[in-house]
Amino acid sequence: MLRKILILLFISASAFAQYDVRKSVYTDADLEIEDYWETELSPISDQNEVVSFIHNDPFNYFFINNIPGGNPLAREISVNSFYGARLHPIHKILKFHRGIDLKGVNGEIAIASGNGKVTETGFKEDLGNYIKISHKYGFESIYGHLSKISVKKGQEVKKGQTIGKVGQTGKVTGPHLHYTLKKNGEYFDPFDFLFMNFQKSW
Ligand SMILES: [Zn+2]
Repeated sequence: MLRKILILLFISASAFAQYDVRKSVYTDADLEIEDYWETELSPISDQNEVVSFIHNDPFNYFFINNIPGGNPLAREISVNSFYGARLHPIHKILKFHRGIDLKGVNGEIAIASGNGKVTETGFKEDLGNYIKISHKYGFESIYGHLSKISVKKGQEVKKGQTIGKVGQTGKVTGPHLHYTLKKNGEYFDPFDFLFMNFQKSW
């Protein structure tokens, strides 16, 4: 869609036009794309609509680092327990699991799944040691049962940055990373967001 605004920046060429050093191939460093996700993605609170917006946007590769669209562990993941209704392993009652449990070992690093700002760290009986990160466009990610918290409230973090260590604090039967994803206050199934590795498609 052509409402997207693209500005090609001719960084070096203008002042020395007679030498014509203009590039013939442009890289992402030459592009300045208006952050239209602020106006278009921010208001959407339905998970399917959000996922479809992101997958269908031709500039998704450009904005993806701003959202928790990645893996909170620094390796291939496997899922212990999915998002949704389940029999709680300790309480033995049917509970809605508002997140995903990723298999982990004590002491392995947990990383930020997207650029953002730490809004809260602490300990809760259920969640153990946890970190909350707020991201652009209304996203929030939460990391629980940590053995170590390496960031502080108010700190800016980059996607892939170490934020803590996996552990088994709180109500757990073994070490794992509990990972919650929210947007505009709504709980999302994080699974759809774990593997958003987009490449430029044009
Ligand atoms: Zn969990």
